[in-house]
Amino acid sequence: MKIYLETLGCQMNQLDSELLLGRFRARDWDIVDSAKDADAVLYNTCSVRDLAEQKVYSRLGRDSRRKLDRNAIGRVYVIAVFGCMAQRDPKELRRRCKGLDIICAPGQIEKLPELLEAAADAQLAAIQPLESDALAAPAPMPAIFTDPKRTEAPDTAAEARIDQLDLTRDPELRSSKSQAFVRVARGCNNFCSYCIVPYVRGPERSREPSHILDETRRLVGAGVSEVTLIGQTVNRYCHTAGDVTTSFAGLLETLHDLDGLRRLRFVTSHPSGFGRETLEAMRDLPKVCEYMHMPAQHGSDRLLAAMNRGYTRSDYDALVDLAREIVPGVTFASDFIVGFPGETEAEHQATIDLMRRVQFKNSFVFKYSPRPGTAAAKTLTDDISDEVKKRRNNELLDIQRETGLTHHRSYIGQQIEVLVTGKSRRSEKQDSPATGETMQLMGRTRGDHIVLFDGAQAMVDSYQTLTITDANDLALFATL
Ligand code: SF4
Repeated sequence: MKIYLETLGCQMNQLDSELLLGRFRARDWDIVDSAKDADAVLYNTCSVRDLAEQKVYSRLGRDSRRKLDRNAIGRVYVIAVFGCMAQRDPKELRRRCKGLDIICAPGQIEKLPELLEAAADAQLAAIQPLESDALAAPAPMPAIFTDPKRTEAPDTAAEARIDQLDLTRDPELRSSKSQAFVRVARGCNNFCSYCIVPYVRGPERSREPSHILDETRRLVGAGVSEVTLIGQTVNRYCHTAGDVTTSFAGLLETLHDLDGLRRLRFVTSHPSGFGRETLEAMRDLPKVCEYMHMPAQHGSDRLLAAMNRGYTRSDYDALVDLAREIVPGVTFASDFIVGFPGETEAEHQATIDLMRRVQFKNSFVFKYSPRPGTAAAKTLTDDISDEVKKRRNNELLDIQRETGLTHHRSYIGQQIEVLVTGKSRRSEKQDSPATGETMQLMGRTRGDHIVLFDGAQAMVDSYQTLTITDANDLALFATL
């Protein structure tokens, strides 16, 4: 059987997809790059923005038509959706996509290989022998598997099973030789007023530190040298068992001791989760990279309160100052929302002011759109016009280009170590050169800068020291 899996959304989804593909491969499924070559298609969905959901609906429309065509010639075509959309509104998915076979929430995905195989068998039984009137039969209702709502008792058995998906991953089936994500926590307790994640991913649960250590050790044993710890609010990791509590700094310290591990990163951090202890761990543990992706979201106190972010502008400024004081060379990245309900020009200027002050390495800017089920969608009017949102969005992007350029240019002339992650996009578009031939490669610094330089394919997954010769707002250019 052949499977096509498409992933939308954050690193959590990317990791879930990687782990699932490992399970499918272990059951002898072939992974294909296109839905049209597959016997089963699987979408790992994101509900953070409407655009991501609409993309999935458009794919499902195409797939439903393809399923009819395939069934008409006696072939199966299984369609499954998992991730945040599956938990947010499974009834809507079922209503809009008649051909859908399986809807599976994020906490149940370890079942998917068995579910897809069962659905394929059932479909095959229904379409054979090939009779034209068999096609007139109504499409079966999809099987729906949701996680308990936050108000319901947790399903501890399902949580133990989903932890096993991470713990029993096959390090040989990872997507990169040198880099890997390791999940340290699931869910979120923050309830930022615009965000759907706490409703679809459930409460914050920190994983058992020994499980994280085992998983990381096996990855490192298989050749991974850079591990990125992930969680919705990764730096708020805290695990208690009996009278032993492991803080995020404690976890960094434990993992740091692993021989063969060269770099340890983490995303995404919440500003309220950083204490001195974590910053000092970043300073004192040489393998921990000096990079903080710490979404500010806005520069105005009123808007930060309306977003329920739990900090003020001066808290954020003070944290950046403290981090710069404790962690030499630390770099910052951020996310921003423009056009949040009621945002005035003066409040928008406060965000510009924050961006100029911090000089982020890079920023992701999003136009506010209400997400059904969130506090902001229920209580606030989306009163900023699209035109104004677009203008403010472009203004923030312009500021980021300006600060990104200044930031990147400050590295010109320096020697810097990169992990070579692969060919650059430019080289990807060209035909593969013969082995040994020079091509443009891409690497990452400890501060998460993208570095482009000419080298040989054999350098991929190695560490190289480069001299920075030029820069633009997004990347550094270097020579060996
Ligand atoms: S911290 Fe806020 S934005 Fe991030 S996942 Fe939690 S609720 Fe969403």
